[in-house]
Order: sequence, then structure tokens, then C-alpha cells
Amino acid sequence: MDFELSPALRELRARVRDFVNDRILPNERLVVEEDRARRSDVLRGLQAEARAAGLYVPHLPVAYGGLGLGIMGMCVLFREMGRSPVGAKVFNCDAPDQGNMDLLLSSASEAIRERWLAPLARGEITSGFSMTEPAPGAGADPSNLRTTAKPDGDGWVIEGHKWYTTGGGDASFLIVMARTSPEQATMFVVDRHAEGVEHVRDIPTLAEPILTHREAEIRYHGVRVGKDAVLGEVGEGFRLAQRASCRRASPTACAGSGSPTAPSSCASPTSARASRSARPWPTTRPSRRCSPTPPWRSTRAT
Ligand SMILES: Cc1cc2nc3c(=O)[nH]c(=O)nc-3n(C[C@H](O)[C@H](O)[C@H](O)COP(=O)(O)OP(=O)(O)OC[C@H]3O[C@@H](n4cnc5c(N)ncnc54)[C@H](O)[C@@H]3O)c2cc1C
Repeated sequence: MDFELSPALRELRARVRDFVNDRILPNERLVVEEDRARRSDVLRGLQAEARAAGLYVPHLPVAYGGLGLGIMGMCVLFREMGRSPVGAKVFNCDAPDQGNMDLLLSSASEAIRERWLAPLARGEITSGFSMTEPAPGAGADPSNLRTTAKPDGDGWVIEGHKWYTTGGGDASFLIVMARTSPEQATMFVVDRHAEGVEHVRDIPTLAEPILTHREAEIRYHGVRVGKDAVLGEVGEGFRLAQRASCRRASPTACAGSGSPTAPSSCASPTSARASRSARPWPTTRPSRRCSPTPPWRSTRAT
């Protein structure tokens, strides 16, 4: 396999590196302090600068304002962005939004893309991915899924209990994995503020919550969605989750090879975040950790 980077990708990497050095790292502390007060003026300003520099949503196609990079391209950029825990957010490719954008792009109806993907790509809203459940539900083994979606008229009714839905409290919509038959699961796009969606709490973690990285417990009490809320086909949930994990530039994908042309370590936002609790805040040191990441934690965990 050829891991040689194209001259264009090398040039892009240099521009992202410079942007992180010159604009993000000096303002990282301000972004975090604002976030503690649940404000985002500095972040918004940096995002506008990234957009003006042509570095916004690089994973998305040009039609959505991006650069259409594949896994290798995003892997290279994530390594640069991940030198700051707020890096990927500035470029609007932080988790869980980046992975959710890819899912909507590949598998959502035109109406859903218009309603949710377009504002998500512009950075106007955020999203969540709701799969993990309290034991004995879905966790490391998603086939333990207990949340159900049952056909009702021309739509579906979702009933279930999820937790660790990163960013779920603040999200405008959630991608929910639910069982639609004994053997099959399906992904649904659910309005976070629809009747029956209860944000129970944000679960405390060892790391300080930051940006969308707040782990929500959510109950779905008979939530009704239309048939166009289905991502892909009914029963395709596990396949979509697997495909998404392959398409995303996860830390697994950028695990070091030692080759001068391949990323030699993973400094994804996930690893940066994972290392926060272990080091004084704030810091500008790149993280060197790299561990396997679940599908919805593309850059994240999220
Ligand atoms: C910060 C954070 C963010 C997260 N964000 C999201 C999110 O946005 N959306 C979402 O849906 N989930 C999210 N998660 C949940 C996360 O993906 C799950 O924690 C993970 O999938 C493991 O599931 P579990 O916690 O239920 O552990 P379990 O499934 O109970 O596993 C516990 C341990 O047992 C091991 N184990 C389990 N089954 C087996 C087996 N059959 N054989 C051998 N070993 C086994 C596991 O490897 C693990 O070491 C997040 C978690 C964290 C910590």
C-alpha cells in the first residue's frame, strides 16, 4: 500500500499546522474558559477564520464547503488538529459531528440532509450518536441492543434507554440505533427536542467536559419519527456502523508505521482529549496516545 502523501496534501497539512500554531494554540485557553461559561465567541471567530482560509469541514465534499478528503487526508489533518483539544472543533470536524455528517451524507434522504446536514456543516448546530446502553444493553457488543423501533402508521416509534451519547444534551438531532427485528438494527435520525426525548443528565467523567464532549444519558419514551428518518435501509444499522468506522479517519486508521511518509503517531482530538485528565490544563503539547476507537468516536468519542 502506498502511503506517499501528494504534494497538495503536504501543502494542506502545512497550512493546517500553521493555523493550529498561529491561531488555535494561542487562543485555546480562551475557548476553554468561554466553554466553561457555555459561550463560544472566540470559537466562532476561529471557525470563521478557518472557513475564510478554506480549511473548514475538510472531510465534506466541495458542495458542502469542504475539501472532499478521504481517510488518508483526514488522518493527516487530524494529526495536526489533535495537537489542541479544541482543534478539530475549529475546523468543524470534531466528534461526534464529523462522523454523523459522513453518515448523513452517505445514507440520509434528501429531506434529512437538507434539514440537518446543511446546518451541521455550517456549524450552526451539533449532533449526537446514540448507541450505547446501560447493561445489559449495547456496549462493546452492539448486538446486545435493547432499544426498539416499531412500525407505526407510516413511521416508527422508538423506545429505549441510552447513555454516553456524546454531545446529546446540546445536540439538535441524534442518530439512534434501535432494534427493528430480532436480528437487525436500524439507524434513525431523531429531533433531539421531539416529544418523548428526555435528556436525563450528563454523566460525570474523569475528564473535564468540553465543547460537545459531554456524555448524555437519554431516554426515548415512545418517540415517533417518520419513515424518512431511517438512515440507509431498514435493517442496515450494523452495516452502516461498520462502514462508518472504515470511512472515518480514526486513530486506529492513523496508527503509526514509523514510515516517513505515514503518520508516525496519532494526535487525534480523541487522544488529545483522553490525555487531558492526565496533564495540567491547558497545554499545547501534542498527545502521543493512540488507541482503538469505536465508530462514533472518529476524532473523538467523543
Ligand atoms: C468518553 C466516552 C464517550 C462515548 N461516546 C459515545 C457516543 O457518542 N455514543 C455511543 O453510543 N457510545 C459512546 N460511548 C460508549 C462507549 O463506546 C462504550 O463505553 C464502549 O462501547 C464499551 O461499552 P461498555 O461501556 O458498555 O462496556 P462493556 O461492553 O460492558 O465492556 C466492558 C469491558 O468488557 C469487555 N468485553 C465486553 N464484552 C466482551 C466479550 N464478549 N468478550 C470479551 N470482552 C468483552 C470490553 O472490552 C470492556 O473491556 C462513549 C464512552 C466514553 C467513555
